[in-house]
Amino acid sequence: MFFTKRCAACGSPGQPVLCHRCRFSIASVGAARTPHGIRAVFPFEGLPRELVVALKFRHRRDAARVLAGQMVRRLPLGQIDVVTWAPTSARRARRRGYDQAEAIAQAVARELGVPCRRLLYRAHGTAQTGKSRADRLVGPAFRARQPRAGLSVLVVDDVVTTGATLLAAAQALRSAGVAHVELVAAASAQRRQHAVVELRPVPS
Ligand SMILES: [Zn+2]
Repeated sequence: MFFTKRCAACGSPGQPVLCHRCRFSIASVGAARTPHGIRAVFPFEGLPRELVVALKFRHRRDAARVLAGQMVRRLPLGQIDVVTWAPTSARRARRRGYDQAEAIAQAVARELGVPCRRLLYRAHGTAQTGKSRADRLVGPAFRARQPRAGLSVLVVDDVVTTGATLLAAAQALRSAGVAHVELVAAASAQRRQHAVVELRPVPS
């Protein structure tokens, strides 16, 4: 089989992940608004949205690397010992061939030089997409595996909307004895009434 590579964001042919133009424009995308102290690097619109959609629905696993690179460069992450992710339902991950949150988490861990470990499991294998807003606010139930004591865990997700998924993940990790949990998403679909997340200036 012969595949022509295309830019994951704009689709122009012959590019490794992002074309030259998109590489420049993604660096100038502004800060995202997020709920409940969860941090996200991009608003879920425009070019970052295209990257997330490519990762989730167009089998562009390589888009995770671009999103992870921006997360590590632009979010003020503290001391992180282990990176994990909020797992999507097993059925969705099987259909796609990979879990998009795991793909981003692995790339973030590589950037940070720390291990990526599966610490969270869906209690009921439910997906958030298609649920009512009220149900989404409750969030999925997670079970957590306890890592070595005293570790600081970073939980990664692709898109944060109400924050319910990441907050449920944090709760499960804290119940399992994790003392320090940080929550980050690649993009935030949060509307405007919430506070602006502070971003570190992008190094030029
Ligand atoms: Zn492009």
